[in-house]
Amino acid sequence: MQKIPLRQEPIAASVTPLAKDGKFHVRLTEGRFQNLRRLTTWPLIGLFFGLVWLQVDGQPILFFSFEQRKITLFGSALSWHDLPLLAGIMIAGATLLFFMAVAWGRIWCGFACPQSIWTWLFIRIETLTEGRANQRAKTQGQPLTGLRLLRRITKHLLWILLALLTATTFTGYFVPIREIVSNALQLQMSLSLLGWLAIMAALTYANAGLVREKICLHACPYARFQSVMFDRDTLTVSYDAQRGEPRANQRVSRDSSGDCIDCGICVQVCPTGIDIRDGLQAACIDCAACIDACDTVMDKLQRPRGLIRFASEQQLLGQASLFLRPRLAGYAAIMLFAFGVVAYGFTETKGLLVEIRRDRTHLVTPLDQDTMCNLYRVKVEGFAKEQALIKVSLAQQQYQLHGPAEIDLRESNSVWLPFRICGSRGGAQRTAVEFVFTGNGIQTSKTTTFLTRLM
Ligand code: SF4
Ligand code: SF4
Repeated sequence: MQKIPLRQEPIAASVTPLAKDGKFHVRLTEGRFQNLRRLTTWPLIGLFFGLVWLQVDGQPILFFSFEQRKITLFGSALSWHDLPLLAGIMIAGATLLFFMAVAWGRIWCGFACPQSIWTWLFIRIETLTEGRANQRAKTQGQPLTGLRLLRRITKHLLWILLALLTATTFTGYFVPIREIVSNALQLQMSLSLLGWLAIMAALTYANAGLVREKICLHACPYARFQSVMFDRDTLTVSYDAQRGEPRANQRVSRDSSGDCIDCGICVQVCPTGIDIRDGLQAACIDCAACIDACDTVMDKLQRPRGLIRFASEQQLLGQASLFLRPRLAGYAAIMLFAFGVVAYGFTETKGLLVEIRRDRTHLVTPLDQDTMCNLYRVKVEGFAKEQALIKVSLAQQQYQLHGPAEIDLRESNSVWLPFRICGSRGGAQRTAVEFVFTGNGIQTSKTTTFLTRLM
């Protein structure tokens, strides 16, 4: 391979992001992948902070109500009994993640994972208040006085503010956000909610401000899946050793050296502190910061970009790589099936939950010589956006239903009501009877038993 001659002067400052105390400071970089990251992360941040405030017809867009045991999901109201549907959404999401991992490695981690996004936000605040990574590394461990103390305090205050905003927004998906804010402004927040917000904020602060990459390295199970999911055609952030080695600072003649000048910038920008030149590692989150950093170096050296790039093992060996392969097609099929099942599940939600209990104190009560009655307690819970009157009837015409012919769910979405079914005492000792509930464009039924005499 023809080499483009090296320039004499070093490209990068020799300052390492490692401070004397071993703490590493991530250096921010710019480039096309960082721009791409902005395109994915800012809308996601906007959605997280914005969705909680959005309402349609007075109803939140996304809300999990423990009080009403109701989930509002983009216009659909689900009951707690529809939780398997939420589990289905998560499983379908996991299949999407697996599909992406086989195709492009851990791009979810690098471009959309909340842990990465919040870590980058906290690093940006750190850079804004305490300066760039090399500056922070140089002064790490020195006594804090004057301006540095002020900057450090400002950083922590901004971190705490962001952590509190995050905690409040997250909680707003379970407790009405307007209620939280109004209570906070009037200093009327309950101790339990205050405690919850404090815990959530502390976790966010510790996660994104202090622990950061250690979560990706030691706690995230997804990193462990990598080796199982990757194959020789998976596109992942890779260092082209054939092109880069031997590195220019090693004792080799300039003509025989590779394109890597060992400037170390790819390591300095890495949020998990690894050296991609050591090969594929579980700690790599495919954020592509090292690609942008190295491309900048290559631009300055007037060499082709891509010493570090998204490449498969096959491509690095100079062999043809197949994107659409049986393994990927298999994951795509599983993913489509999972999303199909979830979509079908949504069409099957009832919006009305019914529970029937027999009154055990009056299991069988005679009405007259020929008629026997059974007592029931019926619970009806509505989950539609607009509650209405629900008509109650029996599917079997030979029985009489006594009780309210209509249930009003407009005041409360959940009511318990007594009902009595009466029928001929000459019939079978045990018969199935079906309550039918109609209203709000929904019809649902529930079967119970009618007894003519005790066993
Ligand atoms: S791979 Fe690129 S950024 Fe990393 S040390 Fe080599 S030249 Fe520098
Ligand atoms: S090695 Fe590169 S892609 Fe991987 S985490 Fe570090 S900077 Fe990101």
